[in-house]
Amino acid sequence: MTLSRPRVAIGAWSAGCLALMLLGCGAPSRPAPAPAVAQWPRVVLLSLDGFRTDYLERPTAVRLRALAARGVRAERLVPSFPSKTFPNHYTLVTGLTPAHHGIVANVMHEPTLGLFRMSDTAAVRNPAWWGGEPLWVTAEKQGRRTAAYFWPGSETAVGGVRPTWWYPYEHTRPNAARVARILEWLAMPPAEAPALIAAYFSDTDDAGHSFGPAAPQVDSAIARVDSAVGAIVDGIARLGLTEVVNVVIVGDHGMAPVAAERAIVLDDYLNLSTVEILDQNPVAMIVPRDGDVARVMAALAGAHPRLQVYRRDALPASYRFAGNPRITPIVAVADDGWTIATRAELARKTSWGGAHGYDPALPSMGTLFVAAGPGVAATGHTIPAFSNVHVYPFVAALLGVRPARTDGSIDSVRAALRPLH
Ligand code: AMP
Ligand code: ZN
Ligand code: ZN
Repeated sequence: MTLSRPRVAIGAWSAGCLALMLLGCGAPSRPAPAPAVAQWPRVVLLSLDGFRTDYLERPTAVRLRALAARGVRAERLVPSFPSKTFPNHYTLVTGLTPAHHGIVANVMHEPTLGLFRMSDTAAVRNPAWWGGEPLWVTAEKQGRRTAAYFWPGSETAVGGVRPTWWYPYEHTRPNAARVARILEWLAMPPAEAPALIAAYFSDTDDAGHSFGPAAPQVDSAIARVDSAVGAIVDGIARLGLTEVVNVVIVGDHGMAPVAAERAIVLDDYLNLSTVEILDQNPVAMIVPRDGDVARVMAALAGAHPRLQVYRRDALPASYRFAGNPRITPIVAVADDGWTIATRAELARKTSWGGAHGYDPALPSMGTLFVAAGPGVAATGHTIPAFSNVHVYPFVAALLGVRPARTDGSIDSVRAALRPLH
């Protein structure tokens, strides 16, 4: 595939302007300075799974803080409901809520498609599950190449389009291999290099689940992803691309500590053989086997003060989680730090760490947004918290591609863009 658009000479200042001009923000009122580079602006979009907002203040987040100091950070990036990995990664790249893009949970069922699980490669590659238009599809359709080093949805041809480069998910692939490949992509000749590189790192989620967010193992995980970020930023500088490449770092959700004394035992209230439970903890997606929703609601609603139980059409409006038939008839959500488990699971459980999936408005579920580069405001400021549906229009603006229609809005993140003048 070749670039269908001509390469143009743009400078550091005009890179951000180009993005805004394509969005109809008008021509700059003074001429652009002499071009520093002859390239379109590019974006490296990194996801740090389960990186809670306040991890940015932990001692090992050195390179991340340095990046924020020469760009922007958000007070908090607010995930979409449910605050789980697949729904949120796909929201980040489509700008749509999970109810609108279709990945409503890590585990889903639909009569015609069967079961969807993250580990089921055939399901993950079936485009019928994936709605909306991921950033890489938007960019590819507009003649820009893209690359994904692991991102939910990137193994799938959404609307018939996949990133030019993508990989089958492999949890244990060393971060160093991911970073090395990203640097190879960055070093490609400008006409061939991907405009968008999206990549995923799981360390902070793994450590947070196993040991809880306050654990020293989380500091080590932060150090590992921080050094991956540092290596990418250093590589960009070494390649002379600091005025070409924007770095945008996001997470999908935060992490709350859980404990044995905060467990909701489902079978205390419900005969488990009468229901199918898709995703269970801390959001239980429940399907009564006999279709009798009223019976299960009667058993669960009010059963435990730390468990909020909703019919699918009556979830809190702030969850923006309605209207998709993949949402199970009953959705039960535990309060912050509570676990939904069966008695048998509790008996087997020997250690308690962290969990996520709770109400996205909780500070514990907040995650990070840090960005720096030629199109990003270079203020070192912290912008107000915002929903992750706005990441898509932000990245589209940095790339200078026409965004698809989404639930996000560029107005919500304009403060993070470099001003025109
Ligand atoms: P969660 O249960 O929401 O914490 O999901 C986190 C897990 O999602 C990670 O530990 C990975 O095993 C898995 N995961 C992340 N990205 C992918 C992907 N692209 N394909 C398959 N599984 C993934
Ligand atoms: Zn996650
Ligand atoms: Zn997780």
